[in-house]
Amino acid sequence: MQLIEAPKQEETRKYGMLIGGEWVEPLSGKTFESSNPFTGKAWATISEAEAEDVNRAVKAARHAFDEGPWGRMTGTERARLLRRLAELIGENADNLALVESTDNGKLLREMGGQLKGLPEWYYYFAGAADKIHGDTIPSDKPNFFVYTRKEPVGVVGAITPWNSPLLLLSFKLPAALAAGCTFVVKPAEHTSASTLEFGKLFEEAGFPPGVFNVVTGYGAGAGAALTAHPGVDKVAFTGSTETGKLVMKSAADHLAKVSLELGGKSPNIVFEDADVEAASNGVISGIFAATGQTCIAGSRLLVHKKSHDEIVERLSDRASTIKLGDPLADDTEMGPSAFREQMDKVLNYIDTAQGEGAELVSGGNRPDTEGLKEGFFVEPTILTGVDNDMRIAREEVFGPVLSVIPVESEEEIIRLANDTEFGLAAGIWTKDIQRAHRVAHAIRAGTIWINAYRTLSFNTPFGGYKSSGLGRENGLDSINEFCETKSVWVELSGSTRDPFTMG
Ligand code: NDP
Repeated sequence: MQLIEAPKQEETRKYGMLIGGEWVEPLSGKTFESSNPFTGKAWATISEAEAEDVNRAVKAARHAFDEGPWGRMTGTERARLLRRLAELIGENADNLALVESTDNGKLLREMGGQLKGLPEWYYYFAGAADKIHGDTIPSDKPNFFVYTRKEPVGVVGAITPWNSPLLLLSFKLPAALAAGCTFVVKPAEHTSASTLEFGKLFEEAGFPPGVFNVVTGYGAGAGAALTAHPGVDKVAFTGSTETGKLVMKSAADHLAKVSLELGGKSPNIVFEDADVEAASNGVISGIFAATGQTCIAGSRLLVHKKSHDEIVERLSDRASTIKLGDPLADDTEMGPSAFREQMDKVLNYIDTAQGEGAELVSGGNRPDTEGLKEGFFVEPTILTGVDNDMRIAREEVFGPVLSVIPVESEEEIIRLANDTEFGLAAGIWTKDIQRAHRVAHAIRAGTIWINAYRTLSFNTPFGGYKSSGLGRENGLDSINEFCETKSVWVELSGSTRDPFTMG
């Protein structure tokens, strides 16, 4: 069933918020505009929630959890709803992808692929919803029967970033719903539209009102109000490390559980025996796909000195032919940055790197060609001669900028790969299988690809070491992030015991 319309040229959409199953305006009546990064023009009007709107949403989620039919449903019933939601996502995937590309400027072919694959997240966790159970524990005391129950943690407050709004929401939501939680999400201010459109599917899927709520607005307003709300039992955040620390402090004030998916500065490592063509392609994909706006971007290329010149030449040749353009066009390979400040930040990093001694071998500017200069584009950029201590090698740029760091030995590679505050991902390119596993084990990061880069799945845990995060999303274990474990002790003998000894 088609519930979501494709955005039309010259149309400006106005969005309310989804609270307790109703589409509502913010109490203040305030709104802000969301721009299409390709045209630079506003295309959607978004509600600006404040603390009182967030309070309404958390109360609706609490009511649905404590008093609505959701809290009494079995896992089998929740699974049925999740499967129906998955079907609706599939039926509306094309238009959801169009909304995302219009809002964040990412390629329609990338967003189309993401959205077509999205139902699998919901089918996977639907399959798990009736298999969430505790254990019976062989008691060390003869007169007790002991078992555990897995119970939903309660109301989840989720905050998502702008780069892949619905995919990153789906790293949290189906696991939370399978566990029996209710949910309030605040998407990024620049890309709220797809999460609001997605909210339209819930009623049709048959979810009771208040199970899924969307509040929109600014991070410092609605976002901070959500993480600080005492009615939120669990905060699930994806975004920058800097904001993640604020979120964790705010959640600590009311002792909410927290999971954080944060930034990265991932190394893509090319050994001297690597398949040069496959490795170059993997490096290009790691840094220029999605305009480099991914947490897993392979932004540091650690390449053996013996292969350095050949790889850099191949990368520069390919980077200079990457087709920039309309994210909605089939032949576009790289779209614009998601918004103006992001573009400015990326250009600034490129200048700083050159000031620190890095050499620009490809890109480095905004394209000034007709049809591109209005958008927030940055050319695919390659910097050589980067030292791992430079800012460009230490800070997350979140743009199409590759830093090439020459290396000489396996020991040096492992040391530099780990010489970062982050630990989200790494790529290793080599034909030596022993070395591949040895290095994979030595790198402190949550995901390692060997002779591959940039692949993920609903059934494989994802998350970061160090400043890249806390907890894991995807995979069956992620359901535990949304559960409490309760131990139940049952006395079997019926005898009365000494009240002053521990039994
Ligand atoms: P931000 O941290 O700036 O924002 C993320 C979200 O947090 C947005 O919804 C934002 O709202 C909100 N926010 C901002 N301030 C606060 C606050 N004080 N309290 C609560 N919420 C707040 O990140 P970006 O949106 O710029 O996303 C890019 C970052 O996300 C990168 O660092 C990237 O690596 C990381 N990321 C991590 C992933 C992972 O799984 N590890 C995946 C994808 C991205 P608003 O938009 O209004 O500012």
